[in-house]
Amino acid sequence: MASSSVAKTKAVINLTACQHNLSVAKQAAPGSKCIAIIKANAYGHGMVEVANALYDADAFGVARIEEVIQLRDAGISKPILLLEGFTSKEELELVRLHNIDCVLQNKHQLQLLDDSPGDAITVYIKIDTGMHRLGFNPEELNDVSQWCEQSSSINKPVRYMTHFANADDKHDDKTLKQLDTFYKSIDGLSADENSIANSAAILGWPQSHSDWNRPGIMLYGVSPFVNSTADEHNLKPVMTLSSYLIAVKQVKKGESIGYGGTYVCEQDKTIGVVAIGYGDGYPRHAKTGTPVLVNNKRCDLLGRVSMDMICVDLDDQTNAQVGDPVVLWGEGLPVETIAEYAGTIGYELLCGVTNRVEFEYLD
Ligand SMILES: *Cc1c(COP(=O)(O)O)cnc(C)c1O
Repeated sequence: MASSSVAKTKAVINLTACQHNLSVAKQAAPGSKCIAIIKANAYGHGMVEVANALYDADAFGVARIEEVIQLRDAGISKPILLLEGFTSKEELELVRLHNIDCVLQNKHQLQLLDDSPGDAITVYIKIDTGMHRLGFNPEELNDVSQWCEQSSSINKPVRYMTHFANADDKHDDKTLKQLDTFYKSIDGLSADENSIANSAAILGWPQSHSDWNRPGIMLYGVSPFVNSTADEHNLKPVMTLSSYLIAVKQVKKGESIGYGGTYVCEQDKTIGVVAIGYGDGYPRHAKTGTPVLVNNKRCDLLGRVSMDMICVDLDDQTNAQVGDPVVLWGEGLPVETIAEYAGTIGYELLCGVTNRVEFEYLD
């Protein structure tokens, strides 16, 4: 039977594990400062709670200006880097008002700065070294750099950054090519402070470490690499998503389970029904056979994931009861494993937990 605590579908967030993971990022690159990336509600973990726990971070990074304002309103006074920069005059005003560091990644932003003179802001000029998403092309860099050096709207020194496309694959030399392009691009400029490495680069590409590293996924205890586990990097899972059994029943051989009848019982079976579904952020594409922990024992997901429920195979523990605890991912069951069964990545699963799930913080 479940313990006396009320059965709930909840995400327990272990902030001590998060602090530990930041220390792993710092130890892997002792000469670098850390911009802890807490975009998308800290990868689904709760942005303000995580920011408060990561007092050892040198700065924070988020994607949207609303996220910065939420952090400032919560009393976070550290530097915060806006990874996409501003796109309008109104946003530029907010950048100045809230003292936000900005990625400068297109000429439209230079125009806005020209059109609205005001207090100087701290910028990271982003160079597109091969990701081909945000950033200036290497050929444009001299002009942009000169513009920034001369502009009274920009704090000195101007900083430079880039972002890797393939750093999660340690055998892909695109990362080294991007690094080479980055250093060639800033050659001859007064580039005193640079920012290059994400989690995969912090752990796998030490040659990319620079003044400011940008760890994201590793802070949440997830391996950034395609073929390695968090354990191997001494990372500890931060989120444990759990629920409980709401029914235990027998299903006869030949009968099917769930919508579409995609799973047909090959023998008489004991199944459990768990109070979690895609309405909570459990991935609908998780296949039959996806591991689930019931009473800390591994069993298989059976049939399709519904909005509010999943079914699991209890043939190995026919004495399981309504109320018994179930873990969907986290401690004892890496989110990377579930992601693999669902054809996605841990990042997406963590970001996707919905607000129907109750969040509980441990520190
Ligand atoms: C999200 C992001 C990061 C963090 O990446 P991880 O793979 O989660 O470590 C770093 N830099 C930029 C620009 C990002 O958008």
